[in-house]
Amino acid sequence: MIAIIGAGLTGLSVAYHLSDLPYSVFDSEKEIGGLCRSVNKDGFIFDYTGHLLHMKDPYTRNFIESILPNVFMVKTRKASVFLKDRYLPYPFQANLYGLPKKVVIECLFDFVKKRIGSRNKDDLNFKEWVVETFGKGISEQFFIPYNEKLFRTSLETLTSNWASWSVPRPSLTEVLRGAIGIKNIRMGYNSSFYYPLKSGIDVLPKELEKRVKGIQLNKKLVSVDLLNRCVEFNDGTKQNYKYLVSTLPLPNLLETIVELPNSFKDISKNLNYVSVQNLNIGISRKNITGFHWIYFPEGKYPFYRVGCYSNISNTLAPENTSSLYIEISSRPEKKKSIEQITAETIEGLKMCGILKKTDSVIEKNYIEIEHGYVIFDKFREKILPDLFSYLEKNNIFSIGRYGSWTYSAMEDSILKGKEIAEILKCRK
Ligand SMILES: Cc1cc2nc3c(=O)[nH]c(=O)nc-3n(C[C@H](O)[C@H](O)[C@H](O)COP(=O)(O)OP(=O)(O)OC[C@H]3O[C@@H](n4cnc5c(N)ncnc54)[C@H](O)[C@@H]3O)c2cc1C
Repeated sequence: MIAIIGAGLTGLSVAYHLSDLPYSVFDSEKEIGGLCRSVNKDGFIFDYTGHLLHMKDPYTRNFIESILPNVFMVKTRKASVFLKDRYLPYPFQANLYGLPKKVVIECLFDFVKKRIGSRNKDDLNFKEWVVETFGKGISEQFFIPYNEKLFRTSLETLTSNWASWSVPRPSLTEVLRGAIGIKNIRMGYNSSFYYPLKSGIDVLPKELEKRVKGIQLNKKLVSVDLLNRCVEFNDGTKQNYKYLVSTLPLPNLLETIVELPNSFKDISKNLNYVSVQNLNIGISRKNITGFHWIYFPEGKYPFYRVGCYSNISNTLAPENTSSLYIEISSRPEKKKSIEQITAETIEGLKMCGILKKTDSVIEKNYIEIEHGYVIFDKFREKILPDLFSYLEKNNIFSIGRYGSWTYSAMEDSILKGKEIAEILKCRK
């Protein structure tokens, strides 16, 4: 028996790909989906903040088309950076046109300097990496304030290897073109995305749920007995397993393992992360913004990103309205109250001009994502290989965005689920 903990996208994908091997899926919540869920509030469909599907791998595209034919549409990203009271096309580093001329010249000068004589980028911390890659100007205008706002920590404590795939690195020609107003808008892994035509993103896990058997809800894992290969849930029930696939956040898994060696005991306290406080709102006016999402690097705005559900799909909001997702990052011990988040958000949205004085907020929905973003620090890098090897020796695969303690997306969940299922099929 394979016990799968978590019925988010990763756990469901493992179960789906195991086909007829014996397994059970357990989740602490009363419904499946994890972060890939949606709520409907009086006709406003809100996801657990914006969840747009980016697909690089042909397997995922075929998989989605086979289980949900003609359900997804493809959209070209309309994303922006709001800085110095103006909208600049995303990515910032390739679209400097529109900033004050002095700032553009400084950014270009520093970028060119780094092109001529950049240091070796191995082993740089994240702050050093952005300065070496983009120069001081671009880093100080965007990358440093934006990432400090997101990660709520000094960027010198972050490693840089995670950034290399997700941060677009334009050529000198592209940066120069962007500085004179020739837009570079189709860069990076997320230049287009897939989204359901007529529903929230939860259509995906819900379809998998239909194809997976043996899902048990309201079952919170509380203890793992490695010696007897047995898991226990909060309702006192137990389940023996041959293999355990865990998709719950790694620190939480470690806390449930009874016989964890002393050398791993304090790990869970030292795995750093930030929480995301997500406010979703419905507004009494249509076409509130032209963008799918907007980045806010400046400290005077409480949010780091604001997205517009109703621009992603007009079926996500009632006629003549708009709907937004607002993301605020917080240290886990310093979360703001919902009242504070709401008040600061509305003020921020008015300050940047998205909300007008005459607009009314007609729907609100608050979601807290405890482990929003993992912090890629040296501790994480040093400890994870030994830890995962220990867990695997004990027949435990800790996977998914939080099980692997990484930065990954829905496509990765589908692919990882398939990979682990194939490994387990070979060990049968
Ligand atoms: C702010 C933000 C924005 C994002 N935007 C995008 C995007 O636009 N596109 C994209 O592709 N990806 C996006 N992602 C990433 C995406 O949400 C994840 O990669 C994916 O949903 C992770 O799925 P998972 O199954 O690994 O984890 P989860 O969805 O977290 O599932 C884990 C499951 O484990 C359950 N669980 C937890 N503890 C226990 C326990 N003790 N016992 C039993 N069950 C338990 C939970 O209830 C949950 O159902 C975003 C993530 C964040 C935080």
